[in-house]
Amino acid sequence: MIIIGGGAAGLCAAIIAGRKGLNVTLLEQNNKVGKKILVSGNGKCNITNRHITPHRFHSQNPDFVEALLDNYGFKAVKAFFHTVGLPLVEGKEGKMFPMSMQASSVVDILLYEAQQAGVKIICNCRAERIEKNGEVFRIETSQGVFSSTKLLIASGSVAAPKLGGSDAGYAFATRMGHSLVARRPSLVQLCSEEQWVKACAGVKIKGHATLFANGETVAQKEGDLLFTNYGISGLAILDLSRQAAHHLAQFDYCELSLDLMPNFSKERLTNLLLQNLHAESNKPLSLWLQGILPKKLIPHILNVSGCKANTEKFLNRKEIGKLVYAIKHLRLSISDTRGFAYAEVAAGGVDTTEIDPVTMASKYVPGLYFAGEILDVDGDRGGFNFHFAWVSAMRAAAAITSDRASSDTSTSA
Ligand SMILES: Cc1cc2nc3c(=O)[nH]c(=O)nc-3n(C[C@H](O)[C@H](O)[C@H](O)COP(=O)(O)OP(=O)(O)OC[C@H]3O[C@@H](n4cnc5c(N)ncnc54)[C@H](O)[C@@H]3O)c2cc1C
Repeated sequence: MIIIGGGAAGLCAAIIAGRKGLNVTLLEQNNKVGKKILVSGNGKCNITNRHITPHRFHSQNPDFVEALLDNYGFKAVKAFFHTVGLPLVEGKEGKMFPMSMQASSVVDILLYEAQQAGVKIICNCRAERIEKNGEVFRIETSQGVFSSTKLLIASGSVAAPKLGGSDAGYAFATRMGHSLVARRPSLVQLCSEEQWVKACAGVKIKGHATLFANGETVAQKEGDLLFTNYGISGLAILDLSRQAAHHLAQFDYCELSLDLMPNFSKERLTNLLLQNLHAESNKPLSLWLQGILPKKLIPHILNVSGCKANTEKFLNRKEIGKLVYAIKHLRLSISDTRGFAYAEVAAGGVDTTEIDPVTMASKYVPGLYFAGEILDVDGDRGGFNFHFAWVSAMRAAAAITSDRASSDTSTSA
């Protein structure tokens, strides 16, 4: 059996198949395996999530995800990591991490277990071309030709090219007769051409963001908002980016409405500001607002609010109403996403209507299997993307090992 790609899916499948006695060769283009795992979860690796449900995954073919996850929820991943000696601990919102809280321990241990299982790992080996002659796949690589009757393509997506993201797998899939669903960056920052955000670069607040496309509400999220010199980032924005990318690709006008104080209703915020008012004070309004808002945001809030008062004593209920509206409905037009270079994952990929969700086998090419992010399945932030990589790999490895008659590999390198 040959596996293209030594990321999450490739390593997991290699360990399972190797342990079952299969002759497994894993080809990885990078100088080491698991580069995305290493940087994941801010170096902690959010391995999976305790609350795995199909609606946390996105695909043009939701039935595929539903069938794949059957019996392959959180417990299956937990059990796999138990077998390699990586107990999991729970963080916020069901996020599961290695007990070490170190992504490097995940890579080190998966690599060790793959080697113990007899997997031949060849790094700096880029698969360049695949052909099938009769029952045998012939894989041309930067280190020679490899052949096998079983091939698992686990080469990931085009996201994060510095970590190994590549479109090679898509080319292999289409060459083998498979179709692709359009790839779009997801879990990615959003760009804006509005100048005021640049002036606010570095400001981070807990807010609420609503995404509009052509004036219609598309999605909303609460969480960190981080203003940057290219636009906006933060966890709430990453969570909205999938839908933003989709609508931007349709050339829809995309805009965010930001509530900078979501914990205060309009009435509560109005009362807070009224209570903070000193009728005779000559304090400039910009300084007065510093009592409640980050300094860098204030010039723009004042500008868009239309508030006529320039010192505290000229504020009245009507002018405060304008400020409250601006604070709770700050508009930001979105021009683009930051692209695959900065995306954590790619939405889209190999069309899953052409893949068996139980075995991960190609419905067109006998002996060909897919696992991981190369497929048209992406998950929410919170461990769902790794979850899909592990469980699709488990399914593929189980299917390949149950049909082990002709899985020898050879090389003419
Ligand atoms: C910064 C960052 C943080 C992330 N954090 C998390 C997180 O905390 N939790 C989570 O669930 N998800 C996270 N993700 C997403 C997660 O990393 C991916 O969904 C997951 O790695 C996909 O696994 P995969 O095995 O399909 O692909 P990958 O892990 O990308 O592995 C594919 C491998 O194939 C190799 N390859 C590609 N083409 C070839 C070729 N032609 N020949 C040989 N080798 C090839 C690549 O070099 C790569 O090593 C994060 C992603 C990024 C970029």
